[in-house]
Amino acid sequence: MEKLANPKNTKEIVQKYEFSFRKKLGQNFLIDPSVPERIVETAQITKDDCVVEIGPGIGTLTQYLAEAAGKVVAVEVDRMLIPILEETLDGYGNVTVIHGDILKTDLGAVAREHNGGRPLKIAANLPYYITTPIIMDLLTKRVPVSSMTVMVQREVGERMIAGPGTKDYGALSLAVQYYTEPKMAFPVPPSCFMPRPKVESTVMHLACREKPPVEVPDEELLFAVIRAAFGQRRKTLVNSLANAPSLSFTKEQTAEAVLRMGLSPTVRGEALTLRQFGELSGLLGEYR
Ligand code: SAM
Repeated sequence: MEKLANPKNTKEIVQKYEFSFRKKLGQNFLIDPSVPERIVETAQITKDDCVVEIGPGIGTLTQYLAEAAGKVVAVEVDRMLIPILEETLDGYGNVTVIHGDILKTDLGAVAREHNGGRPLKIAANLPYYITTPIIMDLLTKRVPVSSMTVMVQREVGERMIAGPGTKDYGALSLAVQYYTEPKMAFPVPPSCFMPRPKVESTVMHLACREKPPVEVPDEELLFAVIRAAFGQRRKTLVNSLANAPSLSFTKEQTAEAVLRMGLSPTVRGEALTLRQFGELSGLLGEYR
């Protein structure tokens, strides 16, 4: 099968199957071959790798992944795309297509079945409407993954690498930086997709850490504190934590913990580093 990554071949296959793009499912297919080439290069995919692709669409990126990887498992939610994938991936013997929702797919089982339990690599041109839930699931559900190379909306990429005191810094930045070493790999303009999205995109490379950069007694409490700290951005950290329904600390306890860290009582959550959030959750944990 000829490669799909150009406007002519994409149009042809879409017309042949009378496929109509569903905006609701984030369907913007790649039509520039340099993008899948660079995704494969950024992910450093070799024949030793088993790659999970989220949302293969008509199989554009899948074709490049299949050539570089040992195995590809592609999870696509849209039933209309399954017969198309059968045609466009015909001849690539190392690809398994799963019809399903990535948020309901057991990737631990995929790793066991397709990669002897070893870590998977994730590669995707993500459906933007669920970028954050997908990334958070992959990070927190203890799925064996060594890296994620994913196309996201540029603003989301900026949030992933943002540091304290910036407008983009938030719960996503801290979660991504706790579990991975994120890098912005390369920008992708709307002209590389069909149909063209209204936003700019960027490919991110998230290398999963063997060990988090800070050690905390209770990871769940750390992320509950982080979510609460950014839940009400205009409030002080002490008030945000004391008012958070998901936490049960009093204002006195949160004020004392902040003071013990040598921080100002009026400090805002966005000023704290990951290390400081780690320390704060450790101190708050003592009140439980
Ligand atoms: N990989 C293709 C490409 O690069 O041309 C298509 C990428 S398109 C941006 C996103 C794909 O994700 C679509 O094919 C869409 O149907 C699929 N998708 C949307 N929601 C999904 C979900 N929950 N689980 C799996 N796939 C999903």
